Amino acid sequence: MASLDPKVTARRKVVIIGGGMAGISAAHRLTTAGWTDAKIVEARDRPGGRIWTQRSGPNIIELGANWIHGSEGNPIYKLATDHNLLKNSARFQKFDPRYRLRGDTFLPGGQVIDRKIVQEFLNMYEEVIEECISFYLKKRRPQHPDESVGNYLEQEFPRRLGLSNDSDDVKRLKMALFKQHLKQETFAIGCHNMKEVRLQNVGEHVSFAGGNINLPDGYDTVLDVLLRDIPSHCMLYNKQVKCVLWDQVIADKSGAECHSQHAISVVCEDGEIFEADHVIVTVPLGVLKKHASTFFQPPLPEKKLGSITRMGFGVVDKVFLEFEKPFWEAGSPGFQLVCKEDDTDPTCPKEWYKKLYIFYVDPKAPNTVFAWLSGEEALYMEALAEEEVAHTIVQVLRRFTGNDGIPLPRGLVTSRWGSDPLTCGSYSFMAVGANGEDIDTIAEPLYSQHTREPVVQFAGEATHRQYHSTVHAAYLSGQREADRLIHLYKS
Ligand SMILES: Cc1cc2nc3c(=O)[nH]c(=O)nc-3n(C[C@H](O)[C@H](O)[C@H](O)COP(=O)(O)OP(=O)(O)OC[C@H]3O[C@@H](n4cnc5c(N)ncnc54)[C@H](O)[C@@H]3O)c2cc1C
Repeated sequence: MASLDPKVTARRKVVIIGGGMAGISAAHRLTTAGWTDAKIVEARDRPGGRIWTQRSGPNIIELGANWIHGSEGNPIYKLATDHNLLKNSARFQKFDPRYRLRGDTFLPGGQVIDRKIVQEFLNMYEEVIEECISFYLKKRRPQHPDESVGNYLEQEFPRRLGLSNDSDDVKRLKMALFKQHLKQETFAIGCHNMKEVRLQNVGEHVSFAGGNINLPDGYDTVLDVLLRDIPSHCMLYNKQVKCVLWDQVIADKSGAECHSQHAISVVCEDGEIFEADHVIVTVPLGVLKKHASTFFQPPLPEKKLGSITRMGFGVVDKVFLEFEKPFWEAGSPGFQLVCKEDDTDPTCPKEWYKKLYIFYVDPKAPNTVFAWLSGEEALYMEALAEEEVAHTIVQVLRRFTGNDGIPLPRGLVTSRWGSDPLTCGSYSFMAVGANGEDIDTIAEPLYSQHTREPVVQFAGEATHRQYHSTVHAAYLSGQREADRLIHLYKS
């Protein structure tokens, strides 16, 4: 790493807005490179942002990031292994995300679908998903440039199924599985409906090999590793930034215009102002979508605003239900529910429970199952009372498993990322109308007209072209922006 001139960095103030993984990663890189005046200004009373681990008795639940996606080349996996964070074997879990089956697959009434049929379905489904990805990788052009993944899957899967030798009954079952899988895809991607996702560019997203891996003692253990190296006085909590006044020009004593000593003022909602020479903005894309037009003065360039608008940022939530004791098979990794009837899709958000599909069992919370919910249905669920959510889900579970004895859970926790004003959603996706250049544009710094230096920089998961939507994207983007400054000032 380049060495920094302490005389320079002591005078150069860096303010990082947001203390999620991107902000912490940037602060860690700057601090360990010898930068003395870098601070994080975070609106919440805790670090981590969308990494949010909650502990209650023996249970550890993750309201945000769940897995390290891939081991081969993933810097988060490296951090975890370098610091022995995966050693708690009783709570460790690893699985192949392509193997989308978890335990039994129930039809209403408790009937379990033959695993052979489910596996055959998965093989065909994976083939069609691979084709979607190949549009970008092989530079194939869809019939329409704005063709969606949802449209393509809805045409291509039934076509292939129609060519198979399956009986009509098996075909009907596989179509039912397909419809449920489209719902699962929405929470993996982070959208409401797969028709929002652009076919031509969805393959720009790159995944690491090596499966999905949990952090047995909590996702926040990986944050702790980085926070240890950042002096505590550099982390300022309960400081919500209202706006960033950048590239300011002030008058010197003679009245002539000159560039301010610290060109940027970071103005907080409580009135406090932090002066800075460089700001790294790591607020989520959802926050930028909502506030970009007022958050920066001078305003952001039209090009950047256009990219912020075009990229997708959807809602994905989790619902955790803790029972006295498991009603599922011991050792099961979970189960999934498949509707028999044609009308499996919610016709309005009020039917949010129709979007429930997979229930996961996590060794970090042994008597607990959790389900994912996405899009408008997730947003609707966020506004409901917990008792109603618990009651509705238990009805669904009883109906599908045929087990009327499933009790109400003794505890329920839901995330509320959509209505959280500090995220305004969950993670970014490649929306119809967007492409990877939009991500690069969002990531581009704003340069001072006076010094030509980068003064406002952007990090966060939605600024990483290949890995966006993940913790490793956030981590790498924080390092990228710290390195930009380190290179600017290296001696
Ligand atoms: C339900 C869910 C499940 C997920 N599962 C996974 C997974 O399994 N694996 C994976 O790799 N990724 C997963 N992710 C994505 C991952 O959590 C994020 O990509 C990553 O944590 C984002 O980090 P970040 O620093 O970019 O943003 P954030 O973590 O959102 O940090 C931004 C910070 O900015 C703060 N902020 C916002 N506005 C202001 C303001 N005005 N002033 C000051 N501070 C402000 C916020 O409070 C926040 O702390 C998941 C996300 C969700 C929501």
